[in-house]
Amino acid sequence: MSRGLVFDVQRYAVHDGPGIRTLVFLKGCPLRCAWCCNPESQQARPEPMRRPALCAACRTCASACPAGAGKRDGRGGPVLDRERCAACADFACVQACPHDAISRVGREADAGELLFEIEQDRDFYRNSGGGATFSGGEPFFQPEFLGELLAGCRSRGIHAAVETCGHARTDILLALEPSIDLFLFDLKVLDAQAHCRLTGQDNGLILDNFHRLASRCPDKVTARLTVIPGVSDSEENVSAFAGLLHETGLETVELLAYHPLGLGKWDGLDREPLLRPEPGLAASSLAEVKLRLTRQGISCR
Ligand code: SF4
Ligand code: SF4
Repeated sequence: MSRGLVFDVQRYAVHDGPGIRTLVFLKGCPLRCAWCCNPESQQARPEPMRRPALCAACRTCASACPAGAGKRDGRGGPVLDRERCAACADFACVQACPHDAISRVGREADAGELLFEIEQDRDFYRNSGGGATFSGGEPFFQPEFLGELLAGCRSRGIHAAVETCGHARTDILLALEPSIDLFLFDLKVLDAQAHCRLTGQDNGLILDNFHRLASRCPDKVTARLTVIPGVSDSEENVSAFAGLLHETGLETVELLAYHPLGLGKWDGLDREPLLRPEPGLAASSLAEVKLRLTRQGISCR
C-alpha cells in the first residue's frame, strides 16, 4: 500500500458530508488562500508549528535546530526560519521545547493504516448514512494515495467524499470520479484576477473542472462557497456565483462561514496571512450572501 502525508484525522465529524464521518486531512495544497484557516495544510512536507498561547519565548527550540533555522523577529520572539528548516528526522525543536509548545504537523501514513482507522466507525456510518471525507490541503495533490484510499473505501462499502478546491489535473479528477460518492467543491472568488491575487492561482482550471463534474455527475457535486467578509461576499461575486450555478444546473449551495481560528496557526508557523478578515462581520456577511443567493433562485444550506 502507498504512503502519503496526512496532518490530521478527525472522527465523529458531522459537517463535511452526510451523517457521521471520519475526516482525513491530506497535507499539501496548490492554493495559498490569503485567509486560509488551515495554513498548516499548505506545505507538502512535515513542519513544526508553535502554539503561541503556550510559548514562553525561551528560544530553546531555535537553539536546538541543527539546520540553524533559529532567528529573531523584530519583537525578539522565537522564530524559525522556514526556508532553512530541513524537517530533520527527529524534529529537534519539538523535542527540545520545555513547555510542550511546539509540535510536528504532518506524518507519513500508510493507506492501509488509515483505512483500518476509518473502518473502526463503520457502525456509525451505517446508522447515520455517513462515511469518510478526504480533505486537506487539497486531496488531489496526492493522487495515488487518494486513489488507494478511495478504492479501499469502495471495496469496504464505505461512502467516500472528497473536499476539493478544484485545482487538480482534470485527467486525475475524472479517473478517480467513479470511486467518489460526493464532491464537496469549494469555490471562493469568481473574478480571475482577484482569484489569482488572493490564492496565488488562476481559477480557469477550477471552473473548467467544476463544469465537467457538474455535467458528468451532477448528483455527486455539492457546490460550496466560502464566505469571507470583504472578499467573496461582494454583490458582483455572489451574482457571478449564482450565474455559475444556473449555468451548470446546480441550484443548491453550502455556505461556509469564515472563522478566525486559523490566525493563531499563522503565528505558530511564523507566517503572516495576506489578509485578516474582520471576524465580527462573518455572521452578517453570511446572512447577506444567503439573502442575495436566495433572491437569485439558489437554495442555501
Ligand atoms: S524541524 Fe528540525 S530543521 Fe526544522 S526547525 Fe525544527 S529542528 Fe530545525
Ligand atoms: S516553542 Fe517552546 S522552546 Fe520554542 S520558544 Fe516557545 S516555549 Fe521556548
